[in-house]
Amino acid sequence: MATHPLFDIAGRTALVTGSSRGIGHALARGLLEAGCTVVLNGRDPERLKAAADELTEIAGSVEAAGNTTTVHTAAFDVTDGPSVTAGIAEVEERVGPLDILVNNAGMQNRAPLLEFTDADWHQILDTNLTSAFLVGREVARRMTERGHGKIVNICSLQSEVVRPGIAPYAATKGALKMLTKGMCADWGPYGIQVNGLGPGYIETELTRPLVEDEKFSTWVRGRTPAGRWGRTEDLVGALLYLASPAADFVSGQILYVDGGMTSVL
Ligand code: NDP
Repeated sequence: MATHPLFDIAGRTALVTGSSRGIGHALARGLLEAGCTVVLNGRDPERLKAAADELTEIAGSVEAAGNTTTVHTAAFDVTDGPSVTAGIAEVEERVGPLDILVNNAGMQNRAPLLEFTDADWHQILDTNLTSAFLVGREVARRMTERGHGKIVNICSLQSEVVRPGIAPYAATKGALKMLTKGMCADWGPYGIQVNGLGPGYIETELTRPLVEDEKFSTWVRGRTPAGRWGRTEDLVGALLYLASPAADFVSGQILYVDGGMTSVL
């Protein structure tokens, strides 16, 4: 089946942070299936290797369809400035120039604000917000020199709305929304488009305690116009669009993929 040229991203190279599992892994798989060479990232080299082995099997069938793709790993902590600088330099030297960056690594820590410690606060801020600044800045330094690039920051429906017990997470994701718009403003003149993708409630390791909580799980289904939890695959189409030439004049936007949840009371 022919791909419309506007959606053709075969041959591009993409780094997805936090892609050893969950949403990041599904997004990396989607990029690979679209013909991209992908670089997986996480902190645990063993887990990364297993995640890469899984995708390498798929790379065979992508190649059979006429595209040359490869799967790579880059283990570094996205909250640590020097590791990020060294990690990105090493990736570009080993794999090649990055065309697409997905800032996906993140965490969630549910607790009432009054019980949230200083350490908890700094950890969630570093993981969900500072990471996108550090990795984004390092990659954009190179993309601005080359005059093109796509950056997608994984925001959340909690960039818009909040519930009790999740204020720090929502604060990081709300700030990530504005960081996305700021990156768009600063780097747009250099041919870089920066957008956000805002997932609703998606079943992953991060949300497992919520999925297993029958009362909460029923609430999610009832509150979502689509009537179900999201699956990681639900996010892939939106990412491929934002990473493609079809979105060359789209920047600073947050595309919510949430079964309609952010739109209803
Ligand atoms: P998971 O917990 O399943 O996966 C998180 C990934 O991030 C893992 O690969 C983990 O690997 C990696 N990671 C965490 N911290 C770091 C770090 N400091 N450096 C490098 N890698 C790191 O989460 P999800 O897949 O559910 O979430 C992915 C993103 O999507 C997050 O930003 C989350 O906030 C967002 N999101 C998720 C929603 C959901 O319902 N699941 C809804 C809305 C947004 P390792 O631990 O090995 O380092």
